[in-house]
Order: sequence, then structure tokens, then C-alpha cells
Amino acid sequence: MLVRIYRSRGVGSVELVKVVEECVMYLSDGSLRKCLVEYRKDPLTGLWCRINVERAFREHRPDIEEIRKNIEEVIKRTESDCPFCASRFRERTPRFYFLKESVLSRGAVVLVPNMFPFGKFHSIAILDPGRHYRPPWDLHEVILDLLALCQEYFEKIIRVDSGQKYCYINMNFLFPAGSSAVHPHAQIVTARRPTNVHGVILRRAERYYRKTGRLLLLDYVDTEVSIGARHVLTKGRFVVYAPFAPHVNYEFHIVDIERGDFQNLSLCDIKILARILCNIISAVSLRFGQYSFNFSIYSALPSSRYSRYSTLLVRVGFRKEPYANYVNDIGFMELLHGEHVVVTYPEEYARSVRLTMTLG
Ligand SMILES: [Zn+2]
Repeated sequence: MLVRIYRSRGVGSVELVKVVEECVMYLSDGSLRKCLVEYRKDPLTGLWCRINVERAFREHRPDIEEIRKNIEEVIKRTESDCPFCASRFRERTPRFYFLKESVLSRGAVVLVPNMFPFGKFHSIAILDPGRHYRPPWDLHEVILDLLALCQEYFEKIIRVDSGQKYCYINMNFLFPAGSSAVHPHAQIVTARRPTNVHGVILRRAERYYRKTGRLLLLDYVDTEVSIGARHVLTKGRFVVYAPFAPHVNYEFHIVDIERGDFQNLSLCDIKILARILCNIISAVSLRFGQYSFNFSIYSALPSSRYSRYSTLLVRVGFRKEPYANYVNDIGFMELLHGEHVVVTYPEEYARSVRLTMTLG
């Protein structure tokens, strides 16, 4: 069986490692065919991904009509009781207890605390209470307001608790991406420690810096730009590329090459970032029929011990086709942060199972 290892030197000490293994595919007519599986090591996390090359190049045409029908059905079914719609969100969502303002808003975006937070500061941004659903290609206006509003919100949070050193803006769009609500909304999280995936990226960047005196993410970006095959565009201070070793289908990164954190972006930078992010979402959605996505914006504030090794990173990836009556239990937190959110309490369900088992 053939195994080949490819190592290509990038900028600085970045190395792109790919192992190609010859495997066998079982076809539906019972015959066998050789195929190649690529194992690619992500330079930012050190994690490997696997790509079956045959499968990746197999034409995949989602049934757009079927998807639209499914989405329309879910819109119709959920609209009358949606807690984020204008007629209900004032009664059905909580108010901030730690800020002077009870809610924050900008344009059509409203920020409220999450009813069941996973962290001290975990808020929900409703992207326009006036519209129950927006297709992925119609989010620009609300994403721009979302980003600008988050900057204002993070500023207030830091004033309330200077121990918050990491800021994350995240979105689960539709149920395959882990959203239980059709109404577009984002989840805004700050934290004292980085999430698992962000922590891996930061610690790896720290080791790289100690060894080379350079920034891993920027060397990696320069590597992608010089290779060119996965580089999409550079605009202002942002570079967009598809990563060498994606963790999710149709993954793209947006990196701030000016070593910024989210809080030091100007409004002009935010406008460019929102435009780029929305253009990626629209392009993948329209070109490949992908309607469901996650994105996370990762930022280490200057107070973080890792801030000197870090720069703003946005990761966006796309999920399976939406079908009615289905919510994935893997959302941005599991997929893009490696943190598992569970809705069952171990001591409680163990007690219950213990009781059932001992009684019965
Ligand atoms: Zn709604």
C-alpha cells in the first residue's frame, strides 16, 4: 500500500505536512477502486484532518428546491412562537443586570443576555427582530451592526470585569449548524481563559514565537498568499484563504495582518470585515447551495498573556443541508472552540439511572 509524505516549507518556520495513503473504495456496483486519502496537519492547531480525494471531487449538487421547501416549512412552523420576533422578544428575553442599559442595540440588531448562559458573560444578538428569517446572502447589514455593537458591548464588559481577556463572536445559522431558532442570531461570549481550540492556537503561537521571534499566524498567512492556490483575497488589513487542513467543509479564515485584537479595529475596518465575511457566506451559499453555517471570531485582548503572539482570526465553515425537524447538537462551541456543551447534569442523571437500575 502506497504512503507518501510531503513536506513543504513555508514562510519562517511554517511547514505544511501532508501524508497521502492509497486506499480502496467500495462502489455501489460491488467493484473496488483505488483512491487516495490525504492526512493534512493544520499548522495553527497541530490537528490532522482527512480528505478522501475522490469523495471531495465527486460532484455534490444539493437539491436547492428541496432545501428551500424545507426552510420555508420550518419558517412557517416557527414564526408564530419565535422568541426573537419583534412582537415577543421584549417579553421573552432577559435584560442585562450588570450593565446600565437593559438591552443594547444598533441599527436592527438587539443584544440581550442569554437566558441559560454558558459563562459569566454570554449574550445573544438578535439580528433584526423585524425579520424572522433572512437568507445567508442577505446578512450584510445586520452583520455590520452586529460587529460594531459587539465592540461597544466588549468595552462595557471589560469595564465591569477586567479579568475578561478573550472575546468571541459566534453564529450558528440554521439547525444543521446547531441553532435551535431559525431567527438569525449570534452568540457573544467573553472569557477569562481561551476556549480549547483558541488555547491550542495561542499556546502553539507562543512556542513558535519563543523559537523564532515571529508570529505563527502571520507566517502561515504569508505562506498561503505565496502558494496562492487557497488564497482568496487581501483587502485592507485582512487576508482571506481556505486553510490547508480544514476542520469543517468549505472552511475559510479571515486574518488581521496588522496584529490587531477586535477592540482596536476602526469602524472602517469593521465595515471591511463585515463585507468580507458576508461575501464569503453569500458566495458559498449561492455557488454550492450551502444554507447552514457557523462562524467564530477569536480575539485575545491586550490584557491576555498571549496577546503578543496573537492576531484577530475569523473562521467560517458550512454544514449539511437543512431538513425539517432536525437540530444538530454540534454548534460553534463544539466545532470551532472544541468545548462540549452538554444539557444533562452528570450527578443528576447518574442519580436517576442509579435509582432505576438498583430498583429494577
Ligand atoms: Zn423570529
